[in-house]
Amino acid sequence: MFASTMQEGELTIARLVEYSRRVFPEAKVTTWTGTESRDMSFSEVGDKAAQLAHALTELGVTRTDRVATFMWNNNEHQVAYAGVPAMGAVLHTLNLRLSPEQAVFIINQADDRVILVDASVAPLLARYLPGTPNVRHVIVVNGPKEALSAPEGIAVHGFDELIAGRPTTFEWPVLDERDPAVMCYTSGTTGDPKGVVYSHRSIWLHSMQVNSTSGMSLGNSDSVLAIVPMFHVMSWGLPFAAMMAGITLVMPDRFLQPEPLLAIMAAEKPTFAAAVPTIWQGVAARLEAAPQDISHLREVVVGGAAVPPSMIRTFDGYGVPITHAWGMTETSPLGSVSRPPFGVDDPDEAFAYRVTQGRFPPSVQARLIGDDGAELPWDGVSSGELEVRGPWITGAYYSPEGNVSDPSKFHDGWLRTGDVSSISPDGFMTIRDRTKDMIKTGGEWISSVELENTVMSNPTVAEAAVVGVPDEKWDERPFVLAVVKDPADADVARQRAFLFERIPRWQVPERWAFVSEVPKTSVGKFDKKVVRAQYAEGAYEVIDAREA
Ligand code: AMP
Repeated sequence: MFASTMQEGELTIARLVEYSRRVFPEAKVTTWTGTESRDMSFSEVGDKAAQLAHALTELGVTRTDRVATFMWNNNEHQVAYAGVPAMGAVLHTLNLRLSPEQAVFIINQADDRVILVDASVAPLLARYLPGTPNVRHVIVVNGPKEALSAPEGIAVHGFDELIAGRPTTFEWPVLDERDPAVMCYTSGTTGDPKGVVYSHRSIWLHSMQVNSTSGMSLGNSDSVLAIVPMFHVMSWGLPFAAMMAGITLVMPDRFLQPEPLLAIMAAEKPTFAAAVPTIWQGVAARLEAAPQDISHLREVVVGGAAVPPSMIRTFDGYGVPITHAWGMTETSPLGSVSRPPFGVDDPDEAFAYRVTQGRFPPSVQARLIGDDGAELPWDGVSSGELEVRGPWITGAYYSPEGNVSDPSKFHDGWLRTGDVSSISPDGFMTIRDRTKDMIKTGGEWISSVELENTVMSNPTVAEAAVVGVPDEKWDERPFVLAVVKDPADADVARQRAFLFERIPRWQVPERWAFVSEVPKTSVGKFDKKVVRAQYAEGAYEVIDAREA
């Protein structure tokens, strides 16, 4: 038999922890306190990860036990990211913005035994604990343990006291790279949140892609403002990518409003940042009121929801190129990244590529499936449901009775993304809509995302969500929920006039409402489920152009 001569080598988180503390002692995590940053070097992260592993072992945590975090992006969360998977346990990042029912459901389904909680959100967690009988220990971080009042049967510890004086090395167990490392639930915009379990191997491979030039192109000279929460798809993989490449992480903790984010940028001058569009919308509005040079950002990656083309132009104006990316909790999340192809130097030509969701890396296979179940061509026109597969794409959802690959979400080993897309002959994917958000009016489809982008390309509009609402004549018509910059622009006739010049007449919405904010999901995306429900309840003052 002819065989490879190569060695094996387990791709585990423990290796990343040991590598980063030895090779990048100068790199650091630094967390904003409201007025300044507090640093923790990668060597210290490694020391504390080992100390945490000793403490957790003493608390009875063993292989594959779930250790949850209920925390902001900060130094101690990075320690948990390092220590928990390295010791063979599973880090379960809990979303701070879920409803109490969802949080209790998730903690119980994942069977979390230990929870690390930031003192600032301890009162929130305290409300869930009476409903989570299997939680044994809560470790309070960044504040006194008295911040948490827990029901009887749960031991409360202070993080600093718990790890103090313990050895700063740990004999990390030898694991299989396919073992579970981190667990994260989807944000549950449609139905119950679903658990996805990442392996050591999937995280390793994904981190390599994050750092590659076709990914986020990050390295030792970068400092990354990681705004996307560590409880939302592992902050897009940045905590692990940082250990791999010696990237300094700038963490905003709970200071996620535009003003403090700009203060962090002024103080730390990060070279790179990552966040969903709504964050950048807020930052742009603030910059208009209080100009500040942010050109230290050589690039920002924006994804999680469609980036309006107008936003890319706005940030180009600040000297900060936006790179558009697409992904899901189910895809770790890096699925596609838009970088114009080699040779496309003309800015307008490049712009046409930059507004798409981009190309897939080699490890992510993609196909488009039409209504009849047949595969569609990559011709830039045909649109169907996007299906993906690969080593960092989930093949099932977690269930205590055994993981489940429901046919509504999986198709012959491919993940059904629920996103309607088209792909150009040169491999650039464009998301048209979520399958559930497409609007069918008089038998024709309108993409809610494209309509939103057009509404938001009007400079008078700060943000706008579009949903389909029932219509007697056309079955469904688009309804626009908009936020305007100046109250005088809450003028349906003028808003529609802007659209008539840009889209077919039949697509121009009649029903509009103007509000101060569009409802958002727990991860900062437009919450169309809520918009639809509020519309149905009559919660909006709807202006109907047909009645004008
Ligand atoms: P989540 O698991 O919460 O990150 O949500 C994943 C979903 O967000 C995807 O299935 C898409 O519907 C949406 N999404 C993510 N990135 C983009 C993007 N760049 N453009 C449009 N939709 C996106």
